[in-house]
Amino acid sequence: ESVEQMIDRLCAKIPDHPEPGVLFRDLTPLFADGDGFKRTVDALTDAFRGQYDCVAGVEARGFMIAAAVAYASGVGIVPVRKKGKLPRETISQQYNLEYGTETLEIHTDDVPRGSRVLVLDDVLATGGTLGASASLLTRAGFNVAGFGVIMELTALRGRAQLGGHRVRALLRV
Ligand code: 5GP
Repeated sequence: ESVEQMIDRLCAKIPDHPEPGVLFRDLTPLFADGDGFKRTVDALTDAFRGQYDCVAGVEARGFMIAAAVAYASGVGIVPVRKKGKLPRETISQQYNLEYGTETLEIHTDDVPRGSRVLVLDDVLATGGTLGASASLLTRAGFNVAGFGVIMELTALRGRAQLGGHRVRALLRV
């Protein structure tokens, strides 16, 4: 079974969640499967090997992926958090979601300026979340090394929001 086939098998498709007309892709069965999670983390780690000094994960599902990739590759992790959670000086960015709006924040001084950062999340939909994360990280002095996601919903054209950086999606649907 290929990584693509495995992700498709372990993704639950939820019609009309969280709003009518949205087909939500729930990857918790993949996270819950030991072999599935390991193969997913290994594939994302391999895709960008040697190209990053740290990883960033987007709250909350991105944290699980980013923590595992960081550990597997021996680098640190920068949390991109929802507004109001980080206690020191932050920069923030508001953006539009597929449904609603959100504000993301990062600390400005957790890692050296110029660090190459791999940005990770579970799903690339409209690209608003990863695009806002990249803006934040760039404003804080990081160099974006690329984006890694488990699944890309290609019809929503999120790649167009990602400024030409490299994107590796393990499954494109
Ligand atoms: P975007 O900002 O690209 O439109 O949406 C991506 C963000 O919303 C990600 O953080 C992702 O977790 C969440 N998201 C949007 N659609 C889905 C979906 O169908 N399944 C999952 N698991 N997350 C989604």
